[in-house]
Amino acid sequence: MAENKLVVLVGIPGVGKTTLLSRIVDAIKDRDRSVCVISFGTLMFEVAKKSGTDNRDKLRKLPVSEQQRLQTIAAKQIAERTEQVVIVDTHAFINSPEGYYPGLPDHVLKIIKPTNFVSVSAKPEEIYNRRMKDSTRSRDKITLANIKKELDIQSGMISACAVITGSPVKHVLNGEGKVEAATEKIMGAIGL
Ligand code: ATP
Ligand code: MG
Repeated sequence: MAENKLVVLVGIPGVGKTTLLSRIVDAIKDRDRSVCVISFGTLMFEVAKKSGTDNRDKLRKLPVSEQQRLQTIAAKQIAERTEQVVIVDTHAFINSPEGYYPGLPDHVLKIIKPTNFVSVSAKPEEIYNRRMKDSTRSRDKITLANIKKELDIQSGMISACAVITGSPVKHVLNGEGKVEAATEKIMGAIGL
């Protein structure tokens, strides 16, 4: 492989990012590449804990200025990674009380310099059912109309990222029971 890859993978909650990523990591290791997966939200939460945020679902309710500060710190940590494939598990936007806030604003993109974006989606009904199964999270009110709206916002936000960085976006459908097919599509998109 000629160059290292910094892949940003986005998807609304319950679309199956974490599920897909565990398959992708195995597939990349099979091809003898070094790889790491970084949850952007986890990095932000580790820093936020030091100033008293005690639950990761509270991150999105912090003032935008504080979210910006945490994003910058997390981005700098990501930029230090040296693996051949670095994958960032994140969201194209955050549902904050002030409105949709970008998960990948210009100041973050300039630090992490993504080579590829992967935007994961699924049928709204499937996302709805996957969210309902996961009782460990404190989610905002879930409706099908809301999920459709979120998929639209995701698509707009990730297109903006592609324009800002000049890096391509692959749109991948994570269909019910189709993790393998989605994994292959993502591997192709990142040239592996
Ligand atoms: P979050 O943003 O909250 O971290 P996520 O996008 O990482 O969510 P996962 O936790 O990977 O989502 O998946 C949510 C649920 O959907 C899990 O129960 C998982 O097993 C299931 N799931 C994911 N992908 C598929 C699929 N292709 N077919 C069937 N079930 C799936
Ligand atoms: Mg996840």
